[in-house]
Amino acid sequence: MKVHNPADGSLINEVPDTSVEEVGTAFAAAAAAQADWAARPLIERIDILRKFRAGVVYRLEELADMLTEETGKAISQSRNELNGLLPRIDFFLDHVESALADETVLEDADAGLVEVIAREPLGVIANISAWNYPWFVGSNVFVPGLLAGNAVLYKPSEFALNTGLAIGDLLWSAGVPREVFAVLVGGGEVGAALLDQPVDGVFFTGSYGTGRRIAEQLAGRMIPMQLELGGKDPVYVASDADPAVAEGLADGAFYNNGQSCCSVERIYVHASIYDAFVERFVATVDGFVLGDPTNPDTYLGPLTRPQQIEVLASQVADAVTLGATVLRGGTPTDHDGHAGWFAPTVLVDVNHDMAVMRDESFGPMIGIQRVGSDDEAVALMNDTEFGLTAGVYTSDADRARRMLAEVNAGSVYWNCCDRVSPRLPWSGRGHSGIGSTLSVMGITAFTKPKAWHRRSR
Ligand code: NAD
Repeated sequence: MKVHNPADGSLINEVPDTSVEEVGTAFAAAAAAQADWAARPLIERIDILRKFRAGVVYRLEELADMLTEETGKAISQSRNELNGLLPRIDFFLDHVESALADETVLEDADAGLVEVIAREPLGVIANISAWNYPWFVGSNVFVPGLLAGNAVLYKPSEFALNTGLAIGDLLWSAGVPREVFAVLVGGGEVGAALLDQPVDGVFFTGSYGTGRRIAEQLAGRMIPMQLELGGKDPVYVASDADPAVAEGLADGAFYNNGQSCCSVERIYVHASIYDAFVERFVATVDGFVLGDPTNPDTYLGPLTRPQQIEVLASQVADAVTLGATVLRGGTPTDHDGHAGWFAPTVLVDVNHDMAVMRDESFGPMIGIQRVGSDDEAVALMNDTEFGLTAGVYTSDADRARRMLAEVNAGSVYWNCCDRVSPRLPWSGRGHSGIGSTLSVMGITAFTKPKAWHRRSR
């Protein structure tokens, strides 16, 4: 496995792929070690994960540099990801004890009957991860998974391998046994080999296409499977919104180069404020600094995967053929003689015949469509196979509540966007996936319930 820096194409690491035999050995070792790990008092596992957190804090600058080097993420945003990881870990550390505690649901002294819900770890789980926020999406699984007493076989994305290896080092140094957390190196074929093992649960973050393949591979296995997949997240700006919200929405669309599962991917604006909104939006985009991702002022580095440039260019071509206007960008671009960037792209005169309004762009691109009413906006927001997030900007709380109640998405936002909270479940609908991470549900997801019926006489 070769790791390249997307900003200049240089080779930054070369690591042998994990072979199919090694995947089997890792599974067998994990299966043998898991019961001991689960039998430790919870406080020991909490202490170990707390040491892992301390390790992240200690190495934060180096880990941010590493993430920027291998993904092209702007350095300020790499630091944000690592800093944002800390409250997520804290949430899990603070809530794991109550989430895993036995719950007595009936105590009937007369009948001598007690009913209790207990929670047991799943066993050995597979964690197959994406590259766009490797710290976030990985830790949503391995932190609660390990705390709940599971062994984790972690397959980081081939585009964030160095970070994946660093996660292993940090967990092992903190005291997680090597058998209980293993890092498997490779691309899709190593992921598929991992799923051929008799794992007890599968937790995947990535594209709909891969998620579907995984669901097909697991059909009939009767094991828990969570899939956190892509999105085509819409936002509606209603007639009573301040056009200045364009600034926050431009950030929601272009942050991390638009490579976020919950990036704003399409915007509907009421005709009465459309012109003012678009003017403000474009002015914000004009202020984005594109260039060397190690520069603290840079907002847009290179795309992590050069292949995505073709997807973006073809969405622009399709939209233009069908009548769209390119207000900004629309083409691949370079920096210091190196290819790999895509100019931040704003398309208007768009409609739902165009791929840019239907398919995930996963890049620095947005379509802005004029609408005539709230009902039209809701219908367009729901005209998708995805269902990750959706937002409404309005000064009227009732109006927002009414519209968002009708939108089919796992997370809904009033006057905000592109936001994830450790306290709330993160879940998708339709092609955006199944299952929830984060929140207390994202702890119990790593357990199976056991219902105790205890009759003393
Ligand atoms: P991807 O589907 O290409 O790859 C994801 C992972 O799956 C990688 O580790 C890859 O090696 C592995 N893989 C590929 N083929 C496999 C197979 N047949 N069997 C097992 N594993 C296989 O996705 P990506 O490019 O890494 O990530 C981008 C996608 O992830 C976007 O669609 C984005 O929206 C989505 N995403 C979703 C969330 C969420 O929380 N819903 C979060 C981050 C990213």
